[in-house]
Amino acid sequence: MDATIAAIGPDGGEFDELRNSVRRWCAATIPPDWREQQRGADHHGYIEFQRWWRDRLAEAGYFIPHWPREWGGVEMSLPEQVVLYEELSRGDAPRLGITQVSVFNAAPAIIHAGSPAQKQRYLPAIASGEIWCQGFSEPNAGSDLAGLQTRAVRDGDHYVVNGQKIWTSMAREAEQCILLARTDLDAPKNKGISFFVMDMRSPGVEVRPIKNLVGDSEFCETFMTDVVIPAENLIGPEHGGWAVSQATLGSERAVALIGLAELLRRNGRDFLLTAAAAWTMPDGSPVLDDSAVREAIGGLYGEVEILRLVLTRMVTNLLHHGGAGPEASVVKIYYSELLQRLMRFASELHGPAGQLLRPGVSSSGWETHDFARDFIHSYSWTIGGGTNEIMRNIVGEQVLGLAREPRPEGARR
Ligand SMILES: Cc1cc2nc3c(=O)[nH]c(=O)nc-3n(C[C@H](O)[C@H](O)[C@H](O)COP(=O)(O)OP(=O)(O)OC[C@H]3O[C@@H](n4cnc5c(N)ncnc54)[C@H](O)[C@@H]3O)c2cc1C
Repeated sequence: MDATIAAIGPDGGEFDELRNSVRRWCAATIPPDWREQQRGADHHGYIEFQRWWRDRLAEAGYFIPHWPREWGGVEMSLPEQVVLYEELSRGDAPRLGITQVSVFNAAPAIIHAGSPAQKQRYLPAIASGEIWCQGFSEPNAGSDLAGLQTRAVRDGDHYVVNGQKIWTSMAREAEQCILLARTDLDAPKNKGISFFVMDMRSPGVEVRPIKNLVGDSEFCETFMTDVVIPAENLIGPEHGGWAVSQATLGSERAVALIGLAELLRRNGRDFLLTAAAAWTMPDGSPVLDDSAVREAIGGLYGEVEILRLVLTRMVTNLLHHGGAGPEASVVKIYYSELLQRLMRFASELHGPAGQLLRPGVSSSGWETHDFARDFIHSYSWTIGGGTNEIMRNIVGEQVLGLAREPRPEGARR
């Protein structure tokens, strides 16, 4: 029985049936060569593959397992979700990236603050795999998010929006965008913001892809010029968007972290124990004959196990206190920096092959095993969703009880 589950309840055996059925499903469904199939795929190929994978998960009830049945979920309990993510990782399942915003950011906000009509309009679309993006960050508002300047001006039954967003992941494919815009210029910064759903096909929305370090254009600049958003797309009260946006940072994101961390744990351990063992030095001797390599593997293996313990604490918080608490920040910091250490080690250990950035390989994530690409890509995890410096502020203040760092009201937390 896994330690994570052991921490959740005394009787891990009650999950055996689920565990076995997910395991059988993985064996029957996950193409063993999915990594090779993806190698060389362009962005379009990556999106197609992701859509295919989403459909498989949905058929099995694993796409939105935690959602209420009335909206298409199967109401999995938290321990059941942990079992699911553990088994998907054990089965080497691909990571589903394209619906992260719709399922883990937009849906919680709509469930929390949306009207019955809004839930009826948006949740079935999300459940059927619609891609959404998140228009929060701006060129001058990232960590200090409440400093955002995109304006939404009420005009009868609609708002007119002007401004610019940046780093909008999946903006090219997204059909809807959760958008933060300023509706009151005179109120304190975080009190004058509203939360909208913006149709990405609206006239006046212009998406310009940004090329990242590996040559991909996963995120974009999004410009809005006189974009009309119907007033019925306002989620929560006018000027009350800050509180709604905080709902997107709740326990569902902690659950998403469980899936990510489980993937790292499983892949990291497998890599350290098996993949690296197959590599050789230039003289043909196994890399594992080198004592410095063995020492490094021992250290990283220990760190992967520490990740499991930190994760266990977060899951325990979720289970017993209903929220992940500041442990979520600890997991995010530890996960992202361990990922970087692992990827650096893998690319260095792989010799010249580990330094090559092969063209045309989609950066679906660190799990491509194209280590130079995965290493570069791993840096996005210390920035996206709040930088690790901001996370450290949270840990300092909320876990360690240190004096609060002076910063503007409405900075990311
Ligand atoms: C891969 C990726 C995908 C993303 N996707 C999206 C998306 O879909 N939608 C979206 O809205 N945004 C997205 N972002 C943007 C992300 O949320 C921001 O990059 C992040 O919040 C940081 O903001 P910034 O880039 O403006 O950096 P800044 O806030 O300008 O920070 C610059 C540096 O200063 C440090 N710093 C700032 N304030 C403090 C402080 N108070 N204390 C200590 N250090 C501080 C930061 O840690 C950082 O090192 C994405 C980012 C990445 C990398």
